[in-house]
Amino acid sequence: MINKSIYIIRKISAIFFLINYVLVTYYWFVFLDLYQPKNLIMKKIYYLCALLFAANGAYAQENALECGTDYLMEEYFNKNPEAKKQHDSFNLELSRLAKSGELSRNVNSRIQQGQVYEIPIVVHVLSKGDALGTENNLNDQQIIDWIDYTNKIFDGTGDRMLNETNGGAVIPVKLVLVKIDPKGKPTNGINRIDLSGNENYVQYGINSNSNFNGLHDVEVVKEYGWESTKYYNIYVAYKSAVGAEATNGYAFFPGGSQSNDRTVMSGSASLVGQQTLAHEFGHALGVFHPHQGYVAGEGKYARDGNGQYIRDENGDYVINVTKPAVCPVNNDCTIDGDGVCDTEPILSLYDTSVNIFRCLTGRINQCTGSPYVGAEQNVMSYTYCFRNRFTPGQMDRAMAQLLRYRENLYTSPVLDNQAKDNNVSLISPSCSPTANERMGNFIIGTVNVNFNEINNWTNPYNTLENNFYKDFTKGYVLAKTTTTIPNNTSTKLNIKTSDTGYLLATKVYIDYNNDGVFSEIDELVLSKNGISRDNSVTSVDVTPPSNAVFNTPLRMRVISDLSNVNITPCGNPRFGDVEDYAVTIKDETLSTDDLKRKKVEIVTNNSTLLVNANDLISNITITDITGRLIYKGDNINKNNFYKDLNTKNQIYIVVVSLKNGTKHSQKVML
Ligand SMILES: [Zn+2]
Repeated sequence: MINKSIYIIRKISAIFFLINYVLVTYYWFVFLDLYQPKNLIMKKIYYLCALLFAANGAYAQENALECGTDYLMEEYFNKNPEAKKQHDSFNLELSRLAKSGELSRNVNSRIQQGQVYEIPIVVHVLSKGDALGTENNLNDQQIIDWIDYTNKIFDGTGDRMLNETNGGAVIPVKLVLVKIDPKGKPTNGINRIDLSGNENYVQYGINSNSNFNGLHDVEVVKEYGWESTKYYNIYVAYKSAVGAEATNGYAFFPGGSQSNDRTVMSGSASLVGQQTLAHEFGHALGVFHPHQGYVAGEGKYARDGNGQYIRDENGDYVINVTKPAVCPVNNDCTIDGDGVCDTEPILSLYDTSVNIFRCLTGRINQCTGSPYVGAEQNVMSYTYCFRNRFTPGQMDRAMAQLLRYRENLYTSPVLDNQAKDNNVSLISPSCSPTANERMGNFIIGTVNVNFNEINNWTNPYNTLENNFYKDFTKGYVLAKTTTTIPNNTSTKLNIKTSDTGYLLATKVYIDYNNDGVFSEIDELVLSKNGISRDNSVTSVDVTPPSNAVFNTPLRMRVISDLSNVNITPCGNPRFGDVEDYAVTIKDETLSTDDLKRKKVEIVTNNSTLLVNANDLISNITITDITGRLIYKGDNINKNNFYKDLNTKNQIYIVVVSLKNGTKHSQKVML
């Protein structure tokens, strides 16, 4: 059922009703009987018109919701069987945990009472040029109110919502409009995109499937999406569809390729009073429809000899079921259907064999033979009831998925509302990758680098971003990608590789001598093969060698690829990716007292060189950059020294030796 269509049809219906109900009904049906629409959408509109007009008031108390997630995910899994395997395997794990009771315990032990996980969101409003404040082009306040409304569905405080105290559950997440954009500039988290010049969009809206009319959503993501590991992207189009089906919204499940991650909404479903976003974000947390796994049926509204719709004793339209819908299998509630035990199995209540445009509370659930006990009012259901609840089982599932797949979001540095300073200057590397050799969507690469202050989540290589090489040393602002480590103690380095079904390999190099080249012999700090999905974090303690260059930012290169690939610091990744970071090694060999005692200060004043030391200066040599000796002074035996070299704009190397045996050298310009 199409929300948009219902909206339009309601209006048409109301107008007709006002003119002359009986007369117009008659002619309307004559018209409809003559006109046999061929295409699917027109057929839907045809039946909707017929039904809604005749029913006139029997239709939904609430707006209909059809979500495109099942269609979208089926298509995605067909194209990415590895992602499907991963998805199934995590569902099996959740089933095992649910059976043993560990799921609830794990979730409850990891989320503290009252803890709310903030999700940084950006809402992209795709306009076709309508006036601001209309449902085709929502204004800022409408979006802010809609997000607030959605958060109150999660925390159970919304009007008519149930929470932990009265049979529902709280999903402890909160959508937060971000305050910094990908360039680190202030934003209100609403990104306005003018597509009024895009004919395809203006005419058809947005579609998840490039084989259908409409702007392909992937093109929008490519062009306008904000880094999906740091932001959760919500796109509001005036019209959204998955293939031939118009939808109120759709979202990707967690896991798989994060570059796909997004919710796409239609504008009319993105308002206060609409629960579609809570429903879609439920999918983004891995929660399914309670009708998951049902098989669609077919039915038509029964008519008498005069063409009038027949009603039963409840006043409901009688449906001639031509093909009964089949209930979801429910032998094992931890894995069958929606994999949640406290939501009863149901049919899609929009199915043409059951849809009577009414809330079915109090009626018999065909899948249990007993009255409905709440699934008909669930946020994740297709229903004409007010959706007033999540269940504790859905909450366990959502939180398990959040903790497993969405750490990048709830720990996202953009929630700090402050751009990160990674302003360092590095020498250029002697080589950088120029391509990904296979250009395949195997979703292989590094997903997290954690090293002292560095904690950066990234997408593994995917064709959408073609992100085979990410140089984070060039003023990146969305996460800390530079750090300083001590020279005399170890620092833990953790590399997390992507959750694919393949075995992966990781190598990390630090250019300790700062010559721009990564040496396989003494600059390789981590090397591991055969990394499996279940042990995807590889750790090493990094202690810099004594001959490393100190107090200067050095390049660190992280490479992750398929396990049997011969990784070299200069080669192109075959399936995976390469990331560069900056690491400064701080010389902490000398204690503060030592540093004070052995301090040497070399300054210049016009053409005069001044040297101050905390110990007696033994000798000083001054050479120019060609190595030519300019001055040499022995047995100085003083704490300070000055010499006028009578030159301009010349570079010299000054070496000061102290009586205590330490040497200090510095480049100066005089
Ligand atoms: Zn859905």
